[in-house]
Amino acid sequence: MIIEADLHTHTCASTHAFSTIKENCRYASRYGLKGIAMTDHMTAMDDSPHKWHFHNMEILPRAISGVYVLKGVELNVTDTEGSVDMDEALLKKMEWCVASMHRSVFNCNDKELITNAYLKLCENPYIDVIGHPTSDAFPFDMEKCLKAFKEYGKLPEVNESSVVYKDGSRRNCIEMLKLCKKYEIPVVVDSDAHYCELVGMTPECEKLIDEIGFPVSLVENASWDMIRERVRKKHPDINI
Ligand SMILES: [Zn+2]
Ligand SMILES: [Zn+2]
Repeated sequence: MIIEADLHTHTCASTHAFSTIKENCRYASRYGLKGIAMTDHMTAMDDSPHKWHFHNMEILPRAISGVYVLKGVELNVTDTEGSVDMDEALLKKMEWCVASMHRSVFNCNDKELITNAYLKLCENPYIDVIGHPTSDAFPFDMEKCLKAFKEYGKLPEVNESSVVYKDGSRRNCIEMLKLCKKYEIPVVVDSDAHYCELVGMTPECEKLIDEIGFPVSLVENASWDMIRERVRKKHPDINI
């Protein structure tokens, strides 16, 4: 296992996922992870939790079963201008933000418009991760956008769940990793687990990383210290 923190996980607050935060953390602890980000779907998706879920996350302990929990969200990109479905007041409070395109929310397959959405998304200071940008459903100018992600400090995601289940994602992920290696663009490797036993599990992504000879030094969540530093820039008082 190459990662110390799984930064894209779901709980049963998103009703198509099946475990509680406590169950997720128990498995994260068993697998030796130092931290996870709890990133349930924001409200533009049909079976997301209510927005109060995100307002109330602060009541959760900082660590559960000895695993740090970053209180986060998986935002939906909602239009070709790179808008997301959370207002700024709440975005400011989030400790970890993944922003993703999902077909049920953003119904666009025009390469130029999707490229524009990703470039505009870069200007949003609250976003940490560009979630699973490897599905055939959303073609875009990968080289141009990956360079912009690096420039704006956004981390493109190598997503286990996408590689295993989404059309074209394995092929697109190989292309993305090769470009990130060439231009030294940092990435994150996440499970996108929807069930506790899958938290931290990224075997297919790790195989691709091995095959390509992708440097682990560019996998930002291979080091909890790197993630901690990043989160502290946004939240200087955070106790992690
Ligand atoms: Zn997603
Ligand atoms: Zn997800």
